[in-house]
Amino acid sequence: MIVNNFEINEENVDGQMVYLPNMMDWKKLIGDNPIIDGEYLLPPNSESTKKILLRNLEILCRYPEMSVVFCRQYPTRRRWSFINLIKLKEGKLQRFQLEHLTCESCGWNGYSANPTIPDLYWGLPSEKAVLDAAWKIPKVNCPYCGRGLPRYAIWVENK
Ligand SMILES: [Zn+2]
Repeated sequence: MIVNNFEINEENVDGQMVYLPNMMDWKKLIGDNPIIDGEYLLPPNSESTKKILLRNLEILCRYPEMSVVFCRQYPTRRRWSFINLIKLKEGKLQRFQLEHLTCESCGWNGYSANPTIPDLYWGLPSEKAVLDAAWKIPKVNCPYCGRGLPRYAIWVENK
């Protein structure tokens, strides 16, 4: 897909087409807010959507395995949705919610990736199977003390 002269990669993730601008083009696209396939990329006047998207991009652009995509999450909904993806070791692109956790044992805190949020999968052709598979991805522990974290995480920020 070409938008405002930017070439945007398309990927099929969990049976759904998602659009993957490179991290450099993302900020320009947010500034331009183009109409894509009949709908503004960001709903005009939605500062909160823009704020969350910019925050996610700022954090995730530091990690080459991370990306942020836009897609039509529900077949019946025109609006674009934004989803974070991590490339797992076997190459699969996995959806996740970006969270900020504090280790209850040592006080480490940082961003983490939680793939077990049902909203991430709503509207997919096989949402239950994909969500079940997300719960089977190996968890990571606190990067500082090695103990369990308070929420499911398959990645933590290493700072
Ligand atoms: Zn810890």
